[in-house]
Amino acid sequence: MNKNNDFKCQLWFSEYHTKNFALSLRVRDVLFTGKSKYQEIQILDTYDFGKVLILDNTFQTTERDEFIYHELISHPALFTHPNPKKVLVIGGGDGGTVREVVKHESVERVDFVELDEKVLELCKKYMPSLSCEVENEKVNIIVGDGIKYVAECEEKYDVIIVDCPDPVGPAVGLFEKEFYKNVFKCLNDDGIMTQQTESPLYNLDLIKKIYAHLKDAGFSIVKPYVCSMPTYPSGFWCFTMASKKYNPLDVDENKIKERLEKISTKYYDEEVHKGVFLSSPKFLKDELKK
Ligand code: SAM
Repeated sequence: MNKNNDFKCQLWFSEYHTKNFALSLRVRDVLFTGKSKYQEIQILDTYDFGKVLILDNTFQTTERDEFIYHELISHPALFTHPNPKKVLVIGGGDGGTVREVVKHESVERVDFVELDEKVLELCKKYMPSLSCEVENEKVNIIVGDGIKYVAECEEKYDVIIVDCPDPVGPAVGLFEKEFYKNVFKCLNDDGIMTQQTESPLYNLDLIKKIYAHLKDAGFSIVKPYVCSMPTYPSGFWCFTMASKKYNPLDVDENKIKERLEKISTKYYDEEVHKGVFLSSPKFLKDELKK
């Protein structure tokens, strides 16, 4: 078999970010392909990024770069809050966010609201490095819609993390004004929320809309922050933190260092904590001022 034929035999998965731009990973094995009640699901074993979860043809998480995303969606809020005890995670069926949350000694309970039982089941089977803590005794799995959950919820949380997919299908409402009002209602008076808020290059209008909704909902501090995420559209990603009381930039670095002695991280530390909030790109800050 010559080199050319070799190439033809290879299996690749491509996610099209635009009509003219795609990210492709070479596939070693197809571990699962099928449909749940809510979405098409694939779990692939890839050469460079390990096992990969794909929902509706969109990369959700990969074993190789997931730590960047899961540490950054979780720890900035959890370390900004001085004593997070009760945490709500919405979405995040792969388990990566829950894994980071339970690392915090102060956390007593994590309510984990994931819409799709099939994602939970498949990630438990195929991606144990992410799902390893979903059976932790502190974690209360609720299979259901996070939008409905916060609308009906009478509990109060210290931190709420929204680990959602792109705003399509059942996730659309996770980016709407009503949802943010309900998140505000479900937080204690010093509560904090963080959500993944898409690509600053492709979704600037959405990020601006979310910022305005969070301010309208009553959050006094709203801070988008960015990082590189190799397998997400544009490779450049945004999270937004909204806080009722604590400013992430006021947190004492020594306190973070002290708490980090008991927690193992690969990306996040006290410098990254300050750094992410101080390094928002100018174009994003300029847009948010408008
Ligand atoms: N890190 C990912 C990203 O940025 O694309 C998100 C990963 S996680 C797998 C997203 C999860 O949110 C999916 O498992 C999906 O089933 C779940 N989800 C979608 N809409 C939801 C809703 N309304 N309530 C709760 N979970 C939802």
